[in-house]
Amino acid sequence: MQLIESQDANFSVNFKEALMHPSTPQGGLYTPASLPNFNGYAYKNLSYKDFALELIKSFEFGYEEIFKKALKSYDKFDDKNCPITLRKINEKLYINELYHGPTRAFKDMALQPFGVLLSEFCKDEKILILCATSGDTGPATLKSFENAPNIKVACMYPKDGTSLVQALQMRTMKAKNLKVFALNGDFDEAQKTLKNLLVKQDFKKNLKDYQLCAANSVNFGRILFQIIYHYYAAVQINKELDIIVPSGNFGNALGAYFAKKMGAKIDKIKIASNENKILSEFFNEGIYDLRGKKLIKTISPAMDILISSNIERLLFDKFKDKRTKELITSLKNQHYFKLNQNELESLREDFEADFCTDEECMKFIKNSKTLIDPHTATCFKLLNQNKTQIIVSTAEWSKFTPSMIKALYKRQCSDEKEDMKYIAKEFKAEIKPEILELFKHQEEKVQGIESQEIEREILRWIKQ
Ligand SMILES: *Cc1c(COP(=O)(O)O)cnc(C)c1O
Repeated sequence: MQLIESQDANFSVNFKEALMHPSTPQGGLYTPASLPNFNGYAYKNLSYKDFALELIKSFEFGYEEIFKKALKSYDKFDDKNCPITLRKINEKLYINELYHGPTRAFKDMALQPFGVLLSEFCKDEKILILCATSGDTGPATLKSFENAPNIKVACMYPKDGTSLVQALQMRTMKAKNLKVFALNGDFDEAQKTLKNLLVKQDFKKNLKDYQLCAANSVNFGRILFQIIYHYYAAVQINKELDIIVPSGNFGNALGAYFAKKMGAKIDKIKIASNENKILSEFFNEGIYDLRGKKLIKTISPAMDILISSNIERLLFDKFKDKRTKELITSLKNQHYFKLNQNELESLREDFEADFCTDEECMKFIKNSKTLIDPHTATCFKLLNQNKTQIIVSTAEWSKFTPSMIKALYKRQCSDEKEDMKYIAKEFKAEIKPEILELFKHQEEKVQGIESQEIEREILRWIKQ
């Protein structure tokens, strides 16, 4: 199967090309023309990795041996045989824990195998991966390419926009092929800087023998692996269900939608947002409206996003390339777009959405018997007692100790490491030694950088 451009369906490339060179001529995203049917329920008894391989094969991209190798990266997760933990809370409710990888967030689910794919594909090409992160993509990307031959990673994060653990995870990775920038700005600024660099001709020219690539969730190579865990979980439960996804850039939720289209028995995909409720407005009112909106800092920073890139793939799947181009162009020029009534109804067949304030979110954390992180907590607003449902859990609580302390004990966190250990003791939970070790670097000074300086700094580093 070829992947086509979301704003020009006549333009197509193969999987390898879309993965390695994700920027398209029209500025759209590479996405499947249509999704293959996959009878996942016939593979109920396969291991996660074997199930994953069957699902990937249904796309007919080729590269089977390389995909096998990529899936072996899941050996590094807590349970070598299965990267996810599907926890049954009661007859109707399951939690799909996706954070059992090396950096304790669900980003590892896609970025670990993605890293292997890219390394395999660029054996005779040098690649510079640019990454903009709101907190979890950064560590997961850096980890995935640590010491990879022929690959360099430049990663920028909003200086005051991530948790301490997330920032420490990035700053402490010392492999020579990795470079981390603390940007003076928010995540949207970081994402904009990344998008501009990806299409900037003289930047590309100055990189000499390095080819540019993005590891953000705009890369279809990541979306692919995000379909699998939703489908696998649905097959294990084996009845019609809803999936509730804490959403930011809409990669995770898009994976659930694609799983549904491929044959998973999913009724509604429920989009949980924080106070940056642009997606909630979009699915309820059919209007994507940036006008007058400013990013609000919340206790779920990975969801502090206004420009949710993967919505474009949904628009394409629902309304095709011409309409996608029209809508995205309107978003660019007028800072909003509006669906018509039929289009909104079409979305409502598959999606529901709501948002959660920080107050509500902290109540959900407090009332939960098990530890849930602030992102996962937003899902509890969308629970419906009458349906079988999966809550998607995207990060381990240990990445967000100050918010956890505030929610659980109504006090400020004083010493993050000690407070983390305190929570772990209270809940008889385990903290990974890699997380505790980060605190040795807590006192090191961090120099912020302006977005205009990123290009020059990357070039200087590349040439060293
Ligand atoms: C990235 C992230 C999200 C948002 O996922 P999207 O695919 O961008 O919608 C939610 N929670 C956590 C913990 C994340 O790291």
